[in-house]
Amino acid sequence: MTDLLKQNIDSLAEFLAHALELEVESAERYRELADNMRVHNNIDVSELFAKLAHYGDAHAAEVEQRATGMELPYISPWDFKWRCPEAPEAPCMEDVHYMMTKCQALELALHNEIRGRDFYAQVAKSSGNREVQRAAAEMASEEDTHVTMLREWQTREACSTLEPQPDLDPPNMPE
Ligand code: ZN
Repeated sequence: MTDLLKQNIDSLAEFLAHALELEVESAERYRELADNMRVHNNIDVSELFAKLAHYGDAHAAEVEQRATGMELPYISPWDFKWRCPEAPEAPCMEDVHYMMTKCQALELALHNEIRGRDFYAQVAKSSGNREVQRAAAEMASEEDTHVTMLREWQTREACSTLEPQPDLDPPNMPE
């Protein structure tokens, strides 16, 4: 797991600021992916992304509600931008605006859901604040259901995946 935390997050306000940034960014990217898939007539995958955008919106709204009356610290949004998977042939954000296949879109989404989940999991583990630990663990487990959802879709669409799947036995198929 790559280290997604520069320093421990020990206050709830700081955690909420990070979570808000992450969820808003993710919802935006899903809306782009949903539009792109719809344009290319991949209606079912478009609907999946619309649903994931909706979860991001719902999370952001929850976070905002929790933050009512609190002053959230300013944090740099750059850490929460979606990234491209590191494999050389991996789909990237710029590709979203051109032709992206269903499988590429799912791969990009999965990569970023895993990042989100791992970020929350790392906060849950490293924070010295109970309330932060609890909130982060909750978010991590929700993100984990999105990871599972995307993996199921990859299987359903018969995509070959770039992400390592540590749960599986070593493949005995030739590459
Ligand atoms: Zn998610």
